[in-house]
Amino acid sequence: MGERDFYAILGVSRNADREELKKAYRKLAVQFHPDRNPGDPQAGERFRDVAEAYDVLSDPEKRRVYDRFGEAGLKGRGHDINAEDIFARFMDMFGGFGDMFGGGRTRGRPGKGRDQQVEISLSLDEAATGLERELDLQRDAACDTCAGTGAAPGSAPEVCSACRGQGRIGHSQGLFTITTTCPQCRGAGRFIRNRCETCRGTGRQAVHKRIKVKIPAGVDTGNTIRVPGAGGTGVEGAAPGDLYVVIEVREDPRFQREGDDLVHEMQIGVPDAVLGRRLRIPGLFDEVRIDIPKGSQPGDVIRIEGEGMPRLGTRGRGDLWIRLDVEVPRSPSREARKLYEKLREIEAQ
Ligand SMILES: [Zn+2]
Ligand SMILES: [Zn+2]
Repeated sequence: MGERDFYAILGVSRNADREELKKAYRKLAVQFHPDRNPGDPQAGERFRDVAEAYDVLSDPEKRRVYDRFGEAGLKGRGHDINAEDIFARFMDMFGGFGDMFGGGRTRGRPGKGRDQQVEISLSLDEAATGLERELDLQRDAACDTCAGTGAAPGSAPEVCSACRGQGRIGHSQGLFTITTTCPQCRGAGRFIRNRCETCRGTGRQAVHKRIKVKIPAGVDTGNTIRVPGAGGTGVEGAAPGDLYVVIEVREDPRFQREGDDLVHEMQIGVPDAVLGRRLRIPGLFDEVRIDIPKGSQPGDVIRIEGEGMPRLGTRGRGDLWIRLDVEVPRSPSREARKLYEKLREIEAQ
């Protein structure tokens, strides 16, 4: 087969710079995109050519080889581009189909419902005990009219004749082996002749849904809980998407969290630091007994075992660390000052 002229395919000069290439690619890729040209195999070919041309010319190394040796030079150099790459790059550049064509379709596993993500914010106490939260979500559900098939009542989706239900069409062309999304069914493998009017063939409708999510004790900021099947409904009976609940645990004025451990800053007076003291403070769950040793120094840390956060997914809890801060009185009472004076006399002896 003949060598293709990648410059001609993109309609640019041999000196075209990055920006020119990108511009040309954008324009042509949109023009020949299979979604814009359903059932037109020629557009699909052009789209692939454009994508391959851009793939080679936008890569300085590949471009140098191509300029010197032509398409044949690229052979055996691992130059391979498949449909996934083409579409991934396309999505990168254009930010998705929805923006471009004004539709709301998402690509990916054909038919599978969309994954959804929600963020929830918890107090430290809530994170410590765990809880069940009811979330009010707007999500996709199966269309009532067509029960999610996307086909008008009384009809059913048909197996796509172009790809025989595979959703993809394979081509072997020169050095490239390429599979493209079937332009007739757009990868679904099925074809809806009479579309349901309610959902316009998507099989989905937006509904408010309340979902209860169990949040285990010990979660921390950034933890994600996956609720399988609680995302968007799949098309034509395909599996629903998943719901991802992303946790944020708010800062707490009493306890600073370090993993499963908690740190509490405690101010004590000079007498307590010198003489030591036993006292109780409110912990995260119960009152905690603290034994301040005699002669404690500012910055000393007392460890109280098992009074920290519950360990996520296992038994037991982290520790509570009490960091002592010795408070020096700024304006002691007359009586206290007298005692300090007395103390100084004694220590001077
Ligand atoms: Zn419907
Ligand atoms: Zn098809």
